[in-house]
Amino acid sequence: MKAAVLETFHQPLVIRELDLAEPGPGEVTVEVKASGLCLTDVHISEGKVPTVKLPLVPGHETAGVVARRGPGVTEVEAGDRVTVFVDVSCGRCDFCLRGETNRCMALRRIGFERNGGMAEFVNVPAANVERIADRVSFEKAAIIPDAVASIYRGLKTVGGVGVGSKVAILGVGGLGIQGVKIARLLGAQVTCTDLDDRKLERARSFGAVHTINPRRESFLDAVRQRIGSFDVVVDNVGRKETVFEAVAACRNGGRVVAMGYVDPVLEIPSYEIVIKEKQVLGCRACTRGEFREIVGLVNSGQLDPDIGELVPIGNVNEALDNLRHGRYLTRTVLTLPFGRQ
Ligand SMILES: [Zn+2]
Ligand SMILES: [Zn+2]
Repeated sequence: MKAAVLETFHQPLVIRELDLAEPGPGEVTVEVKASGLCLTDVHISEGKVPTVKLPLVPGHETAGVVARRGPGVTEVEAGDRVTVFVDVSCGRCDFCLRGETNRCMALRRIGFERNGGMAEFVNVPAANVERIADRVSFEKAAIIPDAVASIYRGLKTVGGVGVGSKVAILGVGGLGIQGVKIARLLGAQVTCTDLDDRKLERARSFGAVHTINPRRESFLDAVRQRIGSFDVVVDNVGRKETVFEAVAACRNGGRVVAMGYVDPVLEIPSYEIVIKEKQVLGCRACTRGEFREIVGLVNSGQLDPDIGELVPIGNVNEALDNLRHGRYLTRTVLTLPFGRQ
């Protein structure tokens, strides 16, 4: 089969033939139709994810069709249209037994520590696939496992967002923009920030009430003058300043959901945490149970994932370069199969 392979860090992916193993016990082979592109793929290609060993087929946002079943698989059938949960958890550790699969002690992630979806086929545990409805395109289904599911957990589970919540989403790129739709679906009033006015315009079109471009006005001044404070602030940026401001913009007892980690150390005034009882909570990916919920919301038509450019997988290196330079407005999706070369 053909695959896009990361053979050397800081070098373009190499499109070449790879052997496709038979699906093992409990596994299925998925014929990939679409693979979402994430900024983490840029970080992986630059050697910034320490658990990645080369060579690797990247791609952790996968949708396609079940092509073959390994021994013992009865949950899905050949021909089923599916999207693929990223985390392959052990099922036995203390966290897995609690249902906290995203905290598994022996986690191996598709597209990180095992081969991912930037290939004609990928073998994954049958337990990782969820069927998608006929109405849902492969391209939209592909971005559910990360861009949609991660911020769903951030808003709903970690942030506790519900009807009437006042929510701010800092940074509305490919992941944050899904958050606008999800927060609206949960019944929240949404404010967004971004340095790119086009992204703010897109957020407004999906129901964001207030938008703030920190290039033109101070975020905290704008919040004080126009909004007051937030119950929940989701920070997708992960810089010292954004987290500091997120905490300041929360109501007493409010929650900051930290989803980015650019600066290695954050500084938060103890007065805000102790006396005002504000909470800063980390959030990584989502659990298997949350993945099932969010696929259900997409399958039923309640949530429509936002995708932008569709790029043939043969142009993956150009797409990674565009992503690295911030040229995409929202989530970009690679389409398969590979063209003739
Ligand atoms: Zn990702
Ligand atoms: Zn585990």
